[in-house]
Amino acid sequence: MPRKILVTSALPYANGSIHLGHLVEYIQTDIWVRFQKMLGNTCHYVCADDTHGTPIMLRAEKEGITPEQLIDRVWHEHKSDFEGFHVEFDHYGSTNSTETKEFAQAIYRKLKAAGLIEVRSVEQFYDPVKNMFLPDRFIKGECPKCHAKDQYGDNCEACGTTYSPIELINPYSAVSGAQPERRNSDHYFFKLSDLRCQEFLRKWTRSDTLQSEASNKMQEWLGSESESKLSDWDISRDAPYFGFEIPDAPGKYFYVWLDAPVGYMGSFKKLCDAEGIVFDDYWKQGSDVELYHFIGKDILYFHALFWPAMLQHAGFRTPTKLFAHGFLTVNGEKMSKSRGTFITADSYLKQGLNPEYLRYYYASLLNGTMGDIDLNLGSENEGFIAKINSDLVGKYINIASRCAGFITKRFEGKLAGGTSIYPIERLQSHAPVLAEMFEKREYNFALREIMSLADEVNKFVDNGAPWVIAKDPAQSQNLHWICTNAIQMFRLLTIYLKPVLPNLANEVEKFLNIPPLTWKNAQSLLPDGHVINSYQHLMTRVDLKKIDAMIEANKESLQPMTESHSPARHAEAQQHAIAPIAETISIDEFNKVDLRVAKIVNAEHVEGAEKLLKLTLDIGEAQPRTVFAGIKSAYDPEKLKGRMTVMVANLAPRKMKFGLSEGMVLAASGDAPGLFILSPDDGAQPGMRIK
Ligand SMILES: [Zn+2]
Repeated sequence: MPRKILVTSALPYANGSIHLGHLVEYIQTDIWVRFQKMLGNTCHYVCADDTHGTPIMLRAEKEGITPEQLIDRVWHEHKSDFEGFHVEFDHYGSTNSTETKEFAQAIYRKLKAAGLIEVRSVEQFYDPVKNMFLPDRFIKGECPKCHAKDQYGDNCEACGTTYSPIELINPYSAVSGAQPERRNSDHYFFKLSDLRCQEFLRKWTRSDTLQSEASNKMQEWLGSESESKLSDWDISRDAPYFGFEIPDAPGKYFYVWLDAPVGYMGSFKKLCDAEGIVFDDYWKQGSDVELYHFIGKDILYFHALFWPAMLQHAGFRTPTKLFAHGFLTVNGEKMSKSRGTFITADSYLKQGLNPEYLRYYYASLLNGTMGDIDLNLGSENEGFIAKINSDLVGKYINIASRCAGFITKRFEGKLAGGTSIYPIERLQSHAPVLAEMFEKREYNFALREIMSLADEVNKFVDNGAPWVIAKDPAQSQNLHWICTNAIQMFRLLTIYLKPVLPNLANEVEKFLNIPPLTWKNAQSLLPDGHVINSYQHLMTRVDLKKIDAMIEANKESLQPMTESHSPARHAEAQQHAIAPIAETISIDEFNKVDLRVAKIVNAEHVEGAEKLLKLTLDIGEAQPRTVFAGIKSAYDPEKLKGRMTVMVANLAPRKMKFGLSEGMVLAASGDAPGLFILSPDDGAQPGMRIK
């Protein structure tokens, strides 16, 4: 009987790009799901963008768009990054959906009815300019211990002390710069400390739902039966907040972490509606369908305590197992923007690097534990480059590239018949043990085993030396036999590698002229006289230059990027303190500023002026305008000629020492050095209004 399985990966936060650290999990999960599908099991893989919370709200505001516009744009970016790495979801949704909202509210109502929700007054910092309560990471001030300035509300990066934001000296809002006030507000708590939750969790974490390392961690968090360490969980946030309103609690919203895991259900519901799957079969209490969450070890707390306790007391089933993995380091260190090792998925693909290199490399390191893995990009002789070039190109692909040509040229593409030899039987007999390794997520062992089988096949080819016997017409039959067996074994290796290398396997299927390979196909061989297509090169070696270029490109990247799943990290996108946002204005006030696309028809130095350039700007009027702009330090006038930029066209003319300035060009600057004038996208014409 095929198994019924539902699989999820953690939801990436809609506030930044997917990077190679995120991809560890999605690739790990995708391999597992593809393997289950190859076995013939019914396996659904769903995920979604995690879209709510203060960071999303503030970032959208900063960009001058709505949160919905922001999360829509990021959703498309994430979707395309995942597709680029062949991560194939059955549904990729968003937590900002009707389905997720309904489940979140239904779960809340059930928990409330069970007496597991409590309202308590909480004192918090409030930003009187922004009119909002401030999460800890949005409050800064002087460390009470070492007096370092500009430290966050929860801990000091200079001395490592943790404290409550109330203890900060001279606290200020990282959003507006204002001095925050202390105010009370009602918060809603999920009573995790309730005996029912404790008892349930003690039982749940002792069953085989967790890896042993995770289970130990849980015992630590739970404490002893006489001294429970569980504390209640604050699940509400005050308006303004981008999220779902709590039923019957106007102005109160679910904290983003409440609806994030509910997003698994919401996304799956969408798939059910599209494909006629019965949702309750998978989620009703007592369901024996398998449910697995792949997560990073940093979000174990949410998935192993809050989530099962919520589900259990709201009448839903709990996960069968949690599969937690470790973190990614690059060249043995934490990913770093300054070293260029904070590598985005997009920048990897843009260098033309094959996504299956990374899939294979990660798989070669991944196992069923929570250990960290290292992406070693440092040299050609070890790590990533060596692994791909030696295993995939040197061992696996090498088999086909050495033998296929003879079949095509000498035997009209036809395979010989009657081949049951020891090496083939050995390969076939490995199917069960390899399946067990994939099932247990011991991909590293599986690949090591597959490569040792590839070594044996290469030895078989070396011994037969088709390139030698091809010169002797009397050996034609032998040549046919050797090359046929090599191709048969290449096909078997492809079956085993297919969960890891789905695209390459697809190319091999075209080359071998066969339907999509399943795991069961390892028990059969291609028949006598089967015609294969001519061999096209399947994979090239990793080019070190591309790796170097990728790292260089990530050094320059200024894109904000965040890890997604810890609450602290949610806020981290905002931590690069920007100048405080100015007071709110109405759209009418904004409309008073007439911004135009301007063509710089001339730019020149101004005699005696230290900072100014004299620009002649065409905005489609009869006469060009003259503007004196303070950008001499950043731009060579020759290079500005012919460029498009943006000017304020209705600024009162200003009499200057060097002449009349009839407007202003816009430029960006910050604490870091540098001054950057703006450019419209290609196609904009002089005189177009910007609004
Ligand atoms: Zn300190």
